[in-house]
Amino acid sequence: MPQQEQEAEVVIIGGGIVGCSAAYYLAKRGVQVALIEKGDIAGEQSSRNWGWVHQQVRHPQIIPLAVMSTEIWAGLEQELGADLEWEQGGNFSLGFDDEDMADFESWCQPAHELGLETAMLTRDEVAGLVPAMSGPWVGAIHVPSDGQASPQLATAAFAAAAERHGARIHTRCAVERIELSAGAVAAVVTEQGRIRTGQVVCAAGAWSARVARPLGLKLPQQSVRSTVVRTAPTEPVTTATAWGDQVTFRQDRQGRFVLAGGGGAVYDLNLDMLRNLRQFLPMAWRNRRWLSIRAGGPLLRDLRTLVPGSPSRRHAWAHLRDIDPAPHRQGARRTIERFRELFPSLAQLPVEHVWAGNIDSTPDQAPALGPVDSLPGFMFATGFSGHGFAMGPGAGKVVSELLLDEGPSIDLRRYRFARFAENDLAPMKARRR
Ligand SMILES: Cc1cc2nc3c(=O)[nH]c(=O)nc-3n(C[C@H](O)[C@H](O)[C@H](O)COP(=O)(O)OP(=O)(O)OC[C@H]3O[C@@H](n4cnc5c(N)ncnc54)[C@H](O)[C@@H]3O)c2cc1C
Repeated sequence: MPQQEQEAEVVIIGGGIVGCSAAYYLAKRGVQVALIEKGDIAGEQSSRNWGWVHQQVRHPQIIPLAVMSTEIWAGLEQELGADLEWEQGGNFSLGFDDEDMADFESWCQPAHELGLETAMLTRDEVAGLVPAMSGPWVGAIHVPSDGQASPQLATAAFAAAAERHGARIHTRCAVERIELSAGAVAAVVTEQGRIRTGQVVCAAGAWSARVARPLGLKLPQQSVRSTVVRTAPTEPVTTATAWGDQVTFRQDRQGRFVLAGGGGAVYDLNLDMLRNLRQFLPMAWRNRRWLSIRAGGPLLRDLRTLVPGSPSRRHAWAHLRDIDPAPHRQGARRTIERFRELFPSLAQLPVEHVWAGNIDSTPDQAPALGPVDSLPGFMFATGFSGHGFAMGPGAGKVVSELLLDEGPSIDLRRYRFARFAENDLAPMKARRR
């Protein structure tokens, strides 16, 4: 418990894949690490995601970290001594018209320049990859080195390996604030005690902006509530992960299809969103076909924290302990319909489970990864915008390199926190499907 903890060289806030992988790489190199998690390990995004380990991303600025991470994933089961259900079956996005294919082509060039092997596939080549699939696609873009793994197993394996190397992990214990001395990080105050430290890594996922705001750091961050569907198991069909017309799929080791993409993505209005409206509205508007804005529980929960003397104000983090967002039922139904159109032979496959998760996103869909120049001892490793399962291993390794080596093994300029204040954001395109 942190009562006895009192001191650590590095305190990591957040027990998702990013925090746990950072704890692993630091502890492995002999650093005294304490990881503090308000709920359970991987209770939020890191266990709720689709399980894609993809480099095929729409935003070239993310590719270097995605490539580095995929190289790590390929040897991760051996590194951590655990079965992660890793499969390197590739990823493809189906194109339905010339515009889709031109979009893919234009993405291939920066991808190749950044060392990523991609291929444009014809309709027949796609059919050869997954013969059970039917539909009016004209071709696809394919990244053969993409893969998939079990979200449930991967973060837990990083946490267990970190502990084996001496990291101390405290769950169901929120970080309430960070104390400074002479303008630098001096301690972390948790629900269960204070830990003296000169270095904090903020890997708090969707809550990083709230952790950092009292320090005067404005991280523009907004969550997108996203719904996932899992079917009952069936015979092996494919090891690829794929994006079709309003449906994404992967088949896990048990034969179950994990599906999403049928719309129903929601911006839940909250105080963060009101603060960041100017930065996020353009993206919401561009993607209005599949993204909606709702005012409900999250806004009320935030408003209660403004009432002086209320329990919500005094123990704000306790009210955010276990977040289990409601799935979007209509979106889930549409996902299932699209899946059945794509795989008519699987139309009778029953649905086993539907859930949702809050994807933390930044205005340019790239993470904040690295130190904050204005606050010595504080580092962000957050804002992975729907790609953090894939990039978590690389992000954790980069954190260890930043703290222990001359410099990181990839260029972090595109991920620096200062870009938000400078408005130096990479231009974004709307998602077509
Ligand atoms: C539905 C869905 C599908 C996705 N699909 C994919 C995919 O296929 N591939 C992919 O690469 N990515 C995917 N993502 C994104 C990916 O899951 C995330 O980018 C990644 O898990 C982020 O990891 P993290 O460690 O940064 O955050 P999280 O896993 O969210 O962990 C942050 C942790 O910090 C804790 N925390 C917050 N505040 C405090 C505090 N004050 N004190 C202590 N602890 C605190 C939280 O409780 C949480 O456990 C998906 C996400 C969702 C929701």
